[in-house]
Amino acid sequence: MTTPRYVIAAPQQASLPIVGKEQRFPVHRIYCVGRNFAAHSVEMGHDPDKEPPFFFQKSPTTLITDGGALTYPTATQDVHHEVELVVALAKGGDNIPVEQALAHVYGYAVGLDMTRRDIQAEMKKKGRPWDTAKNFEGAAPCGAIRQAAEIGHPNHEKIWLKINGELKQEGYLDQMIWKVPEVIAQLSRLFRLQPGDLIMTGTPSGVGPVSVGDTLEGGVEGVGTLTTYITER
Ligand code: MN
Repeated sequence: MTTPRYVIAAPQQASLPIVGKEQRFPVHRIYCVGRNFAAHSVEMGHDPDKEPPFFFQKSPTTLITDGGALTYPTATQDVHHEVELVVALAKGGDNIPVEQALAHVYGYAVGLDMTRRDIQAEMKKKGRPWDTAKNFEGAAPCGAIRQAAEIGHPNHEKIWLKINGELKQEGYLDQMIWKVPEVIAQLSRLFRLQPGDLIMTGTPSGVGPVSVGDTLEGGVEGVGTLTTYITER
């Protein structure tokens, strides 16, 4: 008998479905942009002119696909939804020029940057990392990817989120402080971007709490929708 390569079962490759394709999109890293819509920045108590967007990450293991259930996480009483346009990269690189950034994009999806807001507030106060607020099990619901080759590059479309059919968040992609090419260029100065990277590009205003039993439906016009169910832990 041959010796298995690994001493324990190897973790599975995280991936997302692609609309109209049998093949899936393998996910390398998930980057997120903070405070990229002025109105959301204001609702969180910040001055959008003085505070440019910044970045954090979620683990690919936190992905939930369309129609999946998010088990209400532990250690929190205040889990918030943040609907976001997700960019999927086909090509990576360092120091990608803004003008060449969109040529690195494979496609787009609708995602939710789920957040333990109570923990985040505490971490902000203490000047500690946001990891426990942003990177928990199920923190990154994400819909199927639409190929840029089919839909182009969304840049002004409506983005929205409903809970149990009631509209909670609504904005337009042209309200983003940093547009997708700028986000890719900036990120590539800090990290070596790789094929398979996802970028959650920031949420419009209207974030708020979710409850067990809720159905969340997010959408970006021209990209698609994402449904996530909140279930008991
Ligand atoms: Mn966010």
